[in-house]
Amino acid sequence: MKSRLLLFLSLFFIIPQVISAQHFRAAAAVRIITPDPLLPVSGGIGTPKKSTEKNGDLYARALVLEKGNVRIAIVNVDNLGWPAALGNKSRALIKGIAPENVLIGATHTHSGPDAYGFPNEKGESFADLKYLEHCTRQIADAVNEAVKNLEDASLKIAVGEAKGKIAYNYYADQLYDPRCGVIQAIATSGAKKGKAIATLVNYAIHPEVIGSGRGILSPDLCGPLYDRIEAQGGGIAVFMNGAQGGMVTADNRLENGKEASDWNECKRIGELLADEALRIVKDAPLQENPQLYCTARKIEFPVDSEIMRYILKKSPIKNNMAGENRIATQLNLLNIGTAQVLSIPGEALPNIGFYVKRHMSTKQPFLFGLTNDAFGYMLTKVDFNSFKRYDYVSRTSLGEMTGEIYMEQALKLIQESPKPQEIK
Ligand SMILES: [Zn+2]
Repeated sequence: MKSRLLLFLSLFFIIPQVISAQHFRAAAAVRIITPDPLLPVSGGIGTPKKSTEKNGDLYARALVLEKGNVRIAIVNVDNLGWPAALGNKSRALIKGIAPENVLIGATHTHSGPDAYGFPNEKGESFADLKYLEHCTRQIADAVNEAVKNLEDASLKIAVGEAKGKIAYNYYADQLYDPRCGVIQAIATSGAKKGKAIATLVNYAIHPEVIGSGRGILSPDLCGPLYDRIEAQGGGIAVFMNGAQGGMVTADNRLENGKEASDWNECKRIGELLADEALRIVKDAPLQENPQLYCTARKIEFPVDSEIMRYILKKSPIKNNMAGENRIATQLNLLNIGTAQVLSIPGEALPNIGFYVKRHMSTKQPFLFGLTNDAFGYMLTKVDFNSFKRYDYVSRTSLGEMTGEIYMEQALKLIQESPKPQEIK
């Protein structure tokens, strides 16, 4: 009798506790990283250009997800690229998440401070190391705050075509991926019950409407995207770029062959992308207590390009070299409910994006471009040094084999990882 009572009590009290401890949880947090005073802005290799005004604020935005003993952080930084040497400083300050479970991606705005420490021909760099150090702490703070605020959540996940004038390929206008992946975390209890905690938008585009030549510091189209998502009840917005290399950019074309390149155009495109993302995810079925999986792998690339060797050698931001002219980086695979995510440590061309997505174990593939590192363009070996159009992206890539090595390692990681949940 006594043991039955104990069994009954344990079923009643202990099991629900175990279940609740394993319930899927989510939280998000942001930090403003706009430099004050303003700093010069960088849109690529070369000396950053002076800025005298700002359009919008730069952010670090963190989404933390947890299920059982798996906890991951997805962070976006409003910058051109964010080297692992900086990301690792944040990882060391983040409590309660394994460093390899922290994914840090750059939005690729072309109007933010130089985070690469691009050297000029004399080997001098003008990156503001104090500002970058400050950002690394702000990123860690955002993640740590999100960890503290973790709450029970469900997910809505969808991948669909973003419609309207958002992106195109500047080299060949139709050669881009119009799919937008959306992950929305919704509170299942507490004060925010039924409301969105955060909305992650994954889309391939160059946020270079304003660019680096106008004396303006800006998150570009990402700023209005964040604001719109939040205003429409999507919670904290996180933007992860995709395979946007060579040369998937914002569609700011005007009829007369000119381009709209001001803050109003950033608003038009950012708000349209936000509205499309919310439309795509709106009717997605609720995934209650979804599964979560994260794995990471070190991969290496040879550095064949003279320009890239020079930057890696002279930059004050010291990347971990894997050997003489070899670089190592972290490749991540995540299963989030029915979605699968792969990171890309650079700017993969859209054909590489299509190929990798096609081989992922889901109909909801996500690619986080410029994540964990941003080593320039990643082309297939047959694209490398081919069309005259590809001269620039070939020169600013690590080498002929970068895209090939990435695809091989990505497919291997997919094959060796569990599949995400089935879409019902
Ligand atoms: Zn780019």
